Amino acid sequence: QKEYDYLIIGSGLFGAVFAHEATKLGKKCLVIDKRNHAGGNVYCKNIEGINVHQYGAHIFHTNDKHIWDYVNSFVEFNRYTNSPIANYKGEIFNLPFNMNTFYQLWGVRTPAEAKAKISAQINAVSGLATNVEEQALSLVGKDIYEKLIKGYTEKQWGRSAKDLPAFIIKRLPVRYTYDNNYFNDKYQGIPIGGYNKLIDALLHNIEVKLDTDFFVDRDKWSSMAEHIVFTGNIDQFYDFRYGKLEYRSLRFEHQVYDEYNHQGNAVVNYTEREIPYTRSIEHKHFEFGNQDKTVVTKEFPEEWKPGKEAYYPINDQHNDQLFSQYKALCEKEERVIFGGRLATYKYYDMHQIIASALTTVRKHFKEAVQV
Ligand code: FAD
Repeated sequence: QKEYDYLIIGSGLFGAVFAHEATKLGKKCLVIDKRNHAGGNVYCKNIEGINVHQYGAHIFHTNDKHIWDYVNSFVEFNRYTNSPIANYKGEIFNLPFNMNTFYQLWGVRTPAEAKAKISAQINAVSGLATNVEEQALSLVGKDIYEKLIKGYTEKQWGRSAKDLPAFIIKRLPVRYTYDNNYFNDKYQGIPIGGYNKLIDALLHNIEVKLDTDFFVDRDKWSSMAEHIVFTGNIDQFYDFRYGKLEYRSLRFEHQVYDEYNHQGNAVVNYTEREIPYTRSIEHKHFEFGNQDKTVVTKEFPEEWKPGKEAYYPINDQHNDQLFSQYKALCEKEERVIFGGRLATYKYYDMHQIIASALTTVRKHFKEAVQV
């Protein structure tokens, strides 16, 4: 008989939800995380009384009432609505592309005028677009592409838009109403008091060991539990036997200002190529903070190298093929469950990760679990 029923590697949302539900079912869980805090990428650090999103701005949104009720059962969410603005060479535009943006770009006031302007600019590409530039021009035309898409996307991926595959931009939603709400989902907000509250509530009364990397002594950790839930990097789990999966990384520069309100909005996108960061985040606005000071974070996209944080998977043919080889190995495992963004090599929003953790729990425990 092993000491624990489940060893959960990673205390991000996937690991925390799984641990919570398994504990509710009477299973004994141990959660380990190599970082010095729980929560994975939703973790916030308290600086000057402000919850600073350490791994990039996180805004919770979902259309799924079940998931919304689930997270709200742990912590109440506020009414924050994401309405980013774009700064292009000092000009300010509302996002997502909507009637406010079109007024700011062209002085047009009605949907008909905006539609006419966009259709006149759209480049009919014969056949399928072969790169991001062609794709964007065929969807929204020259002005929106040049002022709001080109520089931002090139910084994000570190390559010219002409060299980026068209699939990166599948759709570019255009809204012919004066609505600056970035998401179309029914529910959105930020946990009141920050994301750590959600994680703390999920992991309440569960044993968590921080600063503990599974790979430093995988035999010891594996031998402690009947089952393993692995939410780390899938290629590392298999000692990179087929090669390393590639990612895009980010670097964050946090700055404290002795100022009440620095940029007037939580999220400002810098859409020109010349400014090296893509976004500037003023964290207090996520929670309508009234602290005397403010913390602003600039987000710099970077090349990923082993050892750096893996943020965005590069789901091109090469990497997806590599991942499918690792996945085939996962499917043969009997006592290991793989879940979360790193083990499945896919970008997921928080609500999707929570949904997939709950589905995993349901399938794994096979009982009629009410979650
Ligand atoms: P993670 O949070 O990465 O957790 C994995 C954990 O496993 C980490 O704590 C890690 O330290 C640990 N771990 C890994 N390997 C080991 C090991 N060997 N030993 C021990 N521990 C290990 N989603 C939204 O819904 N809205 C947003 O606005 C949003 N913004 C985002 C912005 C950025 C920049 C990024 C990158 C993502 C964003 N997301 C957003 C997505 C969100 O971050 C993820 O959906 C979610 O955090 C994934 O949870 P996870 O548990 O799968 O992974």
